[in-house]
Amino acid sequence: MPRLQLIGVGSADSVRHFNTNALVEQSGSRMLIDAGHTVGRALAACQLSTRDIDAVWITHCHADHIYGLERLGSERLFAGLAKPLLYLDPRLEDELWEHSLKGSMGRIGEGQRTLRDYFDVQHVGGEFQHGAVQFQVFETRHTPGKLCFGAIINRHLMYSGDTLPLPEIVALYRPEMILHDFTMHESNPVHASLQQLLDAYDAPTRRRIKLMSYEDNVAQIQDAIDASEMSLAEQGFAVAL
Ligand SMILES: [Zn+2]
Repeated sequence: MPRLQLIGVGSADSVRHFNTNALVEQSGSRMLIDAGHTVGRALAACQLSTRDIDAVWITHCHADHIYGLERLGSERLFAGLAKPLLYLDPRLEDELWEHSLKGSMGRIGEGQRTLRDYFDVQHVGGEFQHGAVQFQVFETRHTPGKLCFGAIINRHLMYSGDTLPLPEIVALYRPEMILHDFTMHESNPVHASLQQLLDAYDAPTRRRIKLMSYEDNVAQIQDAIDASEMSLAEQGFAVAL
């Protein structure tokens, strides 16, 4: 049975929990949801390497979600392995390559290279299927003016991506479990704070929420998290799809 495992649950500057990225495993495939700059170490903690990854879906272009693509693409290219599938909303491609990866990956010893020399780019829109795993993609509420996506996976698991609360998405899809972006800082304008989550979701919904993308010192507010009836997703947390 396919499963999703969180290989990291940290905020962008976490040094303890790796970037919030996920591994979707099924027969014959290991796919990543996002590949941030800690992806090599996060995979090593699972006895895997970037060469073991044959597909990746990118939610948005922040370093903790995309800068691992440099190693993922390069390691497989240099090893002569098949190009990994790169599922990508077409509106993200220019931002991903021209504004993020090209400076590092655009020229190698053999000459100029493009995104498609490293990856089998698959443009995806509102819904796509990878093997036995279905993704129903929605736009999230993250950095204003910057595209960011989350997904309902196999109709029961919500992976929020980086975002403020999304009560309309929860009401629309009614997911059984929600892996939700979270920050312990109430002043953060682009990630969901505890008070915002309390305001947006009722208690039955909050009991289905596991928080991810949190800061290293999150234990300081553990009592408040417990009182909210939400829980922290630990690094390595896995759920059947
Ligand atoms: Zn982000």
